[in-house]
Amino acid sequence: MAKAITTIRQSLNYQSQHADYLAANHALFNRVVAFYFEVIQAHEKVLDLSTKEALTALETLTHATSKNRAPVIPLTEIAQDVPAMFRRAAINAALGSARSFYSSLKKWRTRREKAEAEKARKGKKKFTERPPVPPRTWNKSVPFYAGQWKERTDSSILLKVWTGTCWSWIKVRTLGRGLPDGVEMGSPSLVRRGKQWWLHTPLEKKFGSPAKIEQQVTTNVHTRICAVDLNLDTHLAVCTVQTVEGTILATRFIGHGREISGFRKQQFGRIARNRAKTGIIGEGEQDNADLWCKIKQVDEQIAHLVSARIVQFAQEQEATILVFEHLGNLKPEKGKYSRRGNSKRAFWMKGRIFTYAKYKAWNEKIITSRVNPRNTSRECHRCHRLVIRYNAGQPMEGYTPGASLVLCEHCSMQGHADRNASLVIGQRLIARSQEPRKEKPPAPVRRAGRESKDSGVVLSQDAKRESRPSPDDARHGDGNGHGTAQGRRRRMGASPLSYSSPTPPATGVRATPSLSGKRLRRSGRSRSVSTEAECHMQHRRWPIRMVW
Ligand SMILES: [Zn+2]
Repeated sequence: MAKAITTIRQSLNYQSQHADYLAANHALFNRVVAFYFEVIQAHEKVLDLSTKEALTALETLTHATSKNRAPVIPLTEIAQDVPAMFRRAAINAALGSARSFYSSLKKWRTRREKAEAEKARKGKKKFTERPPVPPRTWNKSVPFYAGQWKERTDSSILLKVWTGTCWSWIKVRTLGRGLPDGVEMGSPSLVRRGKQWWLHTPLEKKFGSPAKIEQQVTTNVHTRICAVDLNLDTHLAVCTVQTVEGTILATRFIGHGREISGFRKQQFGRIARNRAKTGIIGEGEQDNADLWCKIKQVDEQIAHLVSARIVQFAQEQEATILVFEHLGNLKPEKGKYSRRGNSKRAFWMKGRIFTYAKYKAWNEKIITSRVNPRNTSRECHRCHRLVIRYNAGQPMEGYTPGASLVLCEHCSMQGHADRNASLVIGQRLIARSQEPRKEKPPAPVRRAGRESKDSGVVLSQDAKRESRPSPDDARHGDGNGHGTAQGRRRRMGASPLSYSSPTPPATGVRATPSLSGKRLRRSGRSRSVSTEAECHMQHRRWPIRMVW
């Protein structure tokens, strides 16, 4: 059985004093979790038991019943009358944290032993890595087990919470997406985002595991494969569906690349101009926070929309396999800050579209894979020889990267370049699955930083990498990490580190005299957006409107 879990997040609407109750409830829960974590530390052996047995053992240690009148470490020392389900939720949370902590401690010990053995043998460096520490503060979201909530409707729920003085049922209104039918609902939990409380409900969908790609491709010639070519320009994604025996069934172009790119470039231009006006950027301070926020939100939205459209198309065409190419290396563009920054973000978005499409496809029982990207757009999908790539109205010769049309001189195949690339991607997967050894991409390597910590062996990632970067590379840039503006200002990291402009810019000279007061006020370090939630709220209404 395979399963897919989706979380429905609903914003809550409640009376103002209820916010205090929810906070008190949250604080009590974390006190109880901390208490149980200590109990587990004192009785490490419970971790050898199964979760259910460990729960019973911990209850025996802490909870008084008619049979067990004097528990060793009573919970009543820190809290009275804790409902059984609240206590169990806390025990499970503590057990989870403890298991994670002890397993990393164990790994650390193994590494230390290994390093000491090496040291004795080869005279290597001393083992200096610090051991993991147990959590010092607790901020767990409170799950509501059955009995702790009731009367759930599409728009409200009753929750049993600790108000600070007593246990009480409070009614909160839920906003946003309702719960779908036909899925198994998990325990909802209360999550704080900024000042707002949200209710997260996990939904579990179970289905028979889909067959492996090799199996699907080798046993059924009618298996449909949806291949996707992701681009940075006009067509963000071009999808084609073909069967294993090679019949091409459908094509879809997912566009709007130019609008998104144009929008993003405009924001970058604004940031660059603002920076040119203000000069020095304070240490650890995010400049132009609202503009960055806008860019981030739009990228996120587009990645979700495009990935959803891809999966939707695959589903419509009854494809059971989705295939992309591995991301190539980012080729930085030359030119203005806005151009360089824009191309970087467009590249990261490709990685994000893949990641999102993967989980969305899995929810629909579609397996996702990736193939070697080498020459996918230079190869003819019919005869696999090199093609001519040209723009409409230009002579049909040579290879113009990024041009929209292709022509194959050998078999006279003619068509859209990205569609051709997408077909080649699909064919690669089929070829690979039929001959599993050939063309298999290397297994993803672990990040270089972690590797050196774990094993004490320092190996540069490039040295280990055989051909393609892992998808993690795309994620590294998941912030505002852009190049330097005009080659002299600091890197704008998501977590800006201490770095200030080496040359104090002459602001007065740079600013053009024609600048009005209004424009000056708007420029430069604008107010920072403190939390993700706030950022989210601000740009809920998207600046670009598009019909998908
Ligand atoms: Zn050809």
